[in-house]
Amino acid sequence: MNVPLLDLKAQYATIREEIEPIVRAVCESQWFILGPEVEAFEREAAAYCRCADAVGVSSGTDALLLALMAEGVGPGDEVVTTPYTFFSTAGSIARLRARPVFVDIDPVTFNLDPAAAAAAITDRTRALLPVHLFGQGADLAPLLAAAARKGLPVIEDAAQAIGADRDGGRAGGLGTYGCFSFFPSKNLGGFGDGGLVTVQDGALAARLRSLRVHGSRERYVHESVGGNFRIDALQAAVLRVKLRHLDDWTEGRRANAARYGRLFEETGLVARGCVTPPPVETERHVFNQYVIRAADRDGLRDWLRERGVGCEIYYPIPLHLQACFADLGYAEGVFPESERAARETLALPVYPELPPDAQAYVVETIAAFYAR
Ligand SMILES: *Cc1c(COP(=O)(O)O)cnc(C)c1O
Repeated sequence: MNVPLLDLKAQYATIREEIEPIVRAVCESQWFILGPEVEAFEREAAAYCRCADAVGVSSGTDALLLALMAEGVGPGDEVVTTPYTFFSTAGSIARLRARPVFVDIDPVTFNLDPAAAAAAITDRTRALLPVHLFGQGADLAPLLAAAARKGLPVIEDAAQAIGADRDGGRAGGLGTYGCFSFFPSKNLGGFGDGGLVTVQDGALAARLRSLRVHGSRERYVHESVGGNFRIDALQAAVLRVKLRHLDDWTEGRRANAARYGRLFEETGLVARGCVTPPPVETERHVFNQYVIRAADRDGLRDWLRERGVGCEIYYPIPLHLQACFADLGYAEGVFPESERAARETLALPVYPELPPDAQAYVVETIAAFYAR
């Protein structure tokens, strides 16, 4: 049996009839950048994320960069974040010549430890940048309280967490900014690159829209130096169709995650300490990735790949140990939980269309590895 980590063709087959006419309509309009489709998508996405406004941008990376630029983050500033995340979380900070200040993660949720983040705030801190990793809402309440005391903005990296709920709030709607990615492998994936910044404040939305087009509100009049952070009309049109299915797809991911939990319990692998499934949260984890801890993780990965099971390591090298951040001066061992997660975790297929027999095969293949 062959079980890919993600099967975008299976999803496309379910929405082809809805997508084809809207792609044709964008082609007929020959309106490709920003415009009415983007404005409609921004309204619908803001409502979905329970935010006052949303600004469509060119990627999740650019969403982060734009939020940091809107706050005027620059040389000498510090931004507190996690080292156990996709590169662009910290890369966006460094591109503005600011310093990513890393703090370790919570070993159960893999999200940044809020107490450590609050303790890392200094006079040079300009923003806090938590990540809702793998689709699980980070514990933002203590972070928001610390940020409010110091008058700091909170920029949520919600690239993996559209629709994730925690403590009665939705990812992207709790902090000052919510940054989303529509990279095709995200829960809401476009037909190319795309991203979104959500805000609760109209003045911030206007600043983001200006920065998106070279710091201009009126054509050829520039109030600041922004960039080209525009999203395509075609992406917006596709995303509008897919947004209507997102809650169903999320429920599919959650059902698959719950089924993994039951299957792993039945095999006895959890009790034997071979596999630690992700925690079952009462609130809405949207499972962009289903990530287990596994004994002999690299051996298991090779075993699964040889037997047709797609799996991936997110992320094998924590960011404080990346060569490009050597000058930040972090030594190996300073963030033990991030480093342990990088050694022990493995993502398994959890996409909504994953057939139950394929999922059973994944678990059987894992059980066979530990039965050798
Ligand atoms: C995907 C991702 C990004 C970047 O999004 P792009 O659209 O690929 O630029 C940023 N942060 C996290 C946590 C991500 O998973």
